[in-house]
Amino acid sequence: MYMEGRILKGIGGFYYVDTKEGVVECKARGKFRKTIGKPIVGDLVELEVQADGTGYLLEIKSRKNSLIRPAVANLDLVVIVATEAQPKTEPFLIDKVIAIAENKGIDSCVVLNKCDLNDSQELYEIYKSVGIEVFRLSAATGEGVEELRTFLRGKAAAFAGNSGVGKSSLLNRLIPDFAAETGTISDRIGRGRHTTRHVELVPYDGGYIADTPGFSSFDTEQMDLVLREDLQYAFREFEPYLMQCQFTGCAHVKEKGCAIRAAVEAGEIAQSRYDSYVKLYESVKDLKEWK
Ligand code: GDP
Ligand code: ZN
Repeated sequence: MYMEGRILKGIGGFYYVDTKEGVVECKARGKFRKTIGKPIVGDLVELEVQADGTGYLLEIKSRKNSLIRPAVANLDLVVIVATEAQPKTEPFLIDKVIAIAENKGIDSCVVLNKCDLNDSQELYEIYKSVGIEVFRLSAATGEGVEELRTFLRGKAAAFAGNSGVGKSSLLNRLIPDFAAETGTISDRIGRGRHTTRHVELVPYDGGYIADTPGFSSFDTEQMDLVLREDLQYAFREFEPYLMQCQFTGCAHVKEKGCAIRAAVEAGEIAQSRYDSYVKLYESVKDLKEWK
């Protein structure tokens, strides 16, 4: 029987595909991998289900986006879990993940956890002003979680966050037993949190949620793919100023007559966002610029 679905996880050559009829265990035949390529989590696929209930993949639909580490396709949203409580999340870590997402054409939102511990508004104000959705909530008390729940409905969302911000607590509040379901806890205890664990989508309210352990330290590797001239577009609030710089090809770092730097001086662009831009620019500027 012919069906369509989405790959939830891949383990040892098997792909678990979410379909209308439930999850189907599938194989990708050798010929498939040679001609079509390696399927990844999040892929929308066509499959043939056999009499014994298992299936094999026929086709991968073209991806609207994909990340490399973790390898996951067709995301609607990256949820960056951060906190204004101690130890406060460095804006640079948030900005780096936002820039990666923007560069891939994936929307992002910021979740400020542990609002029960703190009333600082600093990060909240910065990201609100950028035009990014921001949620203040407490995974511990549940305050503010409903708003996030509503926002996530029907979306395929990947959660990123530095260790200690409360990402596991939040995922468990959204999906009871999330950790048990995906093996997060045993992996942590058993092999430490630097283990690159397989990414997995968990169905959630018409959409999907993925924890992204490989992303939790805000891996810079994805960033290596951002070309230096593309970086300015990964900071969406720069956009209205880009045509106003004195020099075409302005890098917005030291150039005279830079409209971005003027906007920072005037308080129209947050200093921390600009600082993150410069830091990222320095890290990508040695890359070759050919495409
Ligand atoms: P992870 O490393 O990001 O997955 O963080 P955890 O979920 O393991 O949480 C780290 C610590 O912060 C734990 O001691 C949690 O109990 C605590 N924590 C998580 N969320 C909250 C919160 O909203 N408020 C408070 N007060 N503590 C929290
Ligand atoms: Zn400029």
